[in-house]
Amino acid sequence: MQHEFNAGRDPMMLADSDSDTELSPYPILWAFSSLSHLALGVPFAATLLLILFCHEMGHYLYCRHYRIAATPPFFIPFPSMIGTVGAFIKIRAPIETRRKLFDIGIGGPIAGFIPALVFAFVGLALSQPLPLGVEPVLGLPLVFEAVNALLGHGWMPQGLLLHPVALAAWAGMLATSLNLLPVGQLDGGHILFALFPRWHRYVSLLTIAGLVLMAWYFYMGWILWAVLLGFMGTKHPYVEPWPKPSPRRYLLGGVALLLLALSLMPSPVKGVTLPQVWQGVRPTLHEWKMDALHKLGLK
Ligand SMILES: [Zn+2]
Repeated sequence: MQHEFNAGRDPMMLADSDSDTELSPYPILWAFSSLSHLALGVPFAATLLLILFCHEMGHYLYCRHYRIAATPPFFIPFPSMIGTVGAFIKIRAPIETRRKLFDIGIGGPIAGFIPALVFAFVGLALSQPLPLGVEPVLGLPLVFEAVNALLGHGWMPQGLLLHPVALAAWAGMLATSLNLLPVGQLDGGHILFALFPRWHRYVSLLTIAGLVLMAWYFYMGWILWAVLLGFMGTKHPYVEPWPKPSPRRYLLGGVALLLLALSLMPSPVKGVTLPQVWQGVRPTLHEWKMDALHKLGLK
């Protein structure tokens, strides 16, 4: 397993053709071609599941603490790049106070960020520089850059061949940042509503608009997240306005914002902005149009 990794074979980046320069995010044939290839998925999956589990337990244990009925964590398998769309708990009773809402909301992201940070250290220590001529596919969050600097890797201008554990920490950071966005009923939305209920709707709408801009300038996938959040709505269930959360919780709200800044990746995948994709598909669309006109005898 380590040998495969040392040979410069990154499961996220290897093409089915077994070439080192052709990159594929879905190297399915390669993964099933040998048990040692498949075994590379174990440290990745175990690390990611542990990070997601800790995140959900952060919410769950606060629910237990406040005697609010909630289910234990569920994991949702999905044929996405990371094999899951995450985990969730279902809270079956209303949350009555802003203090409880804040604690349950922030418990998850903090409980998930800590193991993700530990695994970032382990995984990045095991990662290596990319082979010459291979461009990095994934963008890294700010916290990875900081960990790299602490590990003496510097700012890695040529990019890193991520060890599977680092890749799982990367996915854990992505999940943390998606949850911390201050929108609707995401964790960040709960935190925002608990601290500033009157700003909740406006900040939610602004954040969704920000995601559309990010799709244009950084990564097209943000548009999907913006549409999904738009459909889910920016409303938040009623919570008694008084008492206000303690000043300590307002400070912790600042920590949540810091965690968002550390884990957010404007370009989780590089080189896939809306204008770039449009440039890519435009010639094909033009060809189809000319073809159709030709068949109709109009050209
Ligand atoms: Zn959460």
